[in-house]
Amino acid sequence: MPIYEYRCSSCGHEFETLVLRKDEAVACPQCQSNELDKLISAHAVGSAKVDTPCGDACAPAPMCGAGACPSCQ
Ligand SMILES: [Zn+2]
Repeated sequence: MPIYEYRCSSCGHEFETLVLRKDEAVACPQCQSNELDKLISAHAVGSAKVDTPCGDACAPAPMCGAGACPSCQ
């Protein structure tokens, strides 16, 4: 199931939510605003926010641990 990340335009709160349907209304859990920016998922290619075993300094996830990342060698 897809998990999407959002940033609230009203209060700046960032959160992840499980979206069961594409047209499902998502509201900020902090202020209930519907003014949300959808962030690129960590699973998407080319994401600036990379989820890697060794942190921000690491190469993009597919490269991490494959000998291409200086941080996890
Ligand atoms: Zn908010």
